Formats: sequence, C-alpha cells, structure tokens
Amino acid sequence: MQYQIQTMPIWDAYKTHDGCPLCAIFADREKRLVGQYLAENVMDPDFRSTSNRIGFCPEHIRQMYAGQNKLGLALQLETRAAEMAKLLSKAPTDKKSAKKTAAMIEDHRGCVICNALKEPMERYYMTIAAMYANESEFPELFREAHHCLAHAAMLYDAAAYAGKSVKDYLSALTDGIKRDLKRTESDMRAFADCFDFRNNQKPDAQAIPRAIGVLITDKL
Ligand SMILES: [Zn+2]
Ligand SMILES: [Zn+2]
Repeated sequence: MQYQIQTMPIWDAYKTHDGCPLCAIFADREKRLVGQYLAENVMDPDFRSTSNRIGFCPEHIRQMYAGQNKLGLALQLETRAAEMAKLLSKAPTDKKSAKKTAAMIEDHRGCVICNALKEPMERYYMTIAAMYANESEFPELFREAHHCLAHAAMLYDAAAYAGKSVKDYLSALTDGIKRDLKRTESDMRAFADCFDFRNNQKPDAQAIPRAIGVLITDKL
C-alpha cells in the first residue's frame, strides 16, 4: 500500500513534466509545506518550538514572505527572535568564547521546511529505483526523463533499490544525463554565437532556463 501511495505522484511527474520530474515532485511538496507553515503550523506548539530553534532558510523564508499570511509569519519571527536573543543574553568575553557563540548561532540556523522535505524525498528516490525494476512501463519513461544534476546524484545513490536491474538502471540514468548535458553545451554555444555580429540569429529565450534546469534546478 505504501509503495502504491508513493508511486502515484512519480507516474504523474514522469508522464506529464517536461523538465526534471523530481524537481516537480519537490516543488509540489515544498509548496504544501510552505502553506502549512503559514496556516495550521503557526499555532502548533511542537512546530513552533522547532521553528523557533532552527528557523527557515533564505529560499523558504522568501516563499513564506510571498505568501498570504503576514500575521502568521510575524508571530513566528517574533518568537524566533526571542529564542535567539536568549542565546545571546551574555556577550562573549574572549576569542574562545566568541568562537563558541559563532558555533552556537550556526547550530540554530537551519530550515524546518528543508528538514521536512528530506525524508519523503529520500523515499521517492528509493521508490523510483524499485519501480525501474518492477514496473514494465517505467524504464522507458525513466530513460526519456530530464533529471537535473542534483536529483541524478540522488538517483545514483539509490541504485541498490533497482535490485537485479541495477546495471540497466544506471546506464539509462547516465545516458539521459549525458544526452542533456550535450544538449546544454550545444544550446549555450548557439546562444553565445548569436552575439557574434557576423551571425544574424536571434537567441532562443528558453535556452538558458533549460540549461539551468539541467545543471542546477528546474524551478527558476
Ligand atoms: Zn531535479
Ligand atoms: Zn529551506
């Protein structure tokens, strides 16, 4: 049953998404989590004590700020500030204690949303490798998919879950990435060539977002 629940969004992303299917799954879960941190989680003591302690990363605070609940955000920032002020109640008095203070601040700088995304995403990587071995229609979709470099790394890491199909899985993954990197290279060359006055060509406006999609993230 768990496997079934996991496979549905994967089929969906691989069938309908042009770019990296895992970036699409990630963005979907991320959007839901940001929504939760602006709604039900605001008044939940457990969530609040963790977000007071860990905070949010720049990307996720930016998404929360762009959201619709400024009051909920302000309440969380208020108690986060109070928690951090407690940590800094006494000024460090020498080099050594200053280092300790720096390390203590770093320990309290993380992201509750990034943390909450980690485990479910890991389950997706494992499930994808297992689907390659178990679902007859999946290998073709997998071979055609445009995995970004970051998610490709995760898929290599999960290779053990492809079981007996591991060799095939790894060659499909590698062929796909090599194909997309080659295309990125020639797209970027063509884009740059458009700036040569001897060429009278208009650059493809989608070429750079596509390259970023392969090399960094599908979610610009
Ligand atoms: Zn991706
Ligand atoms: Zn984050």
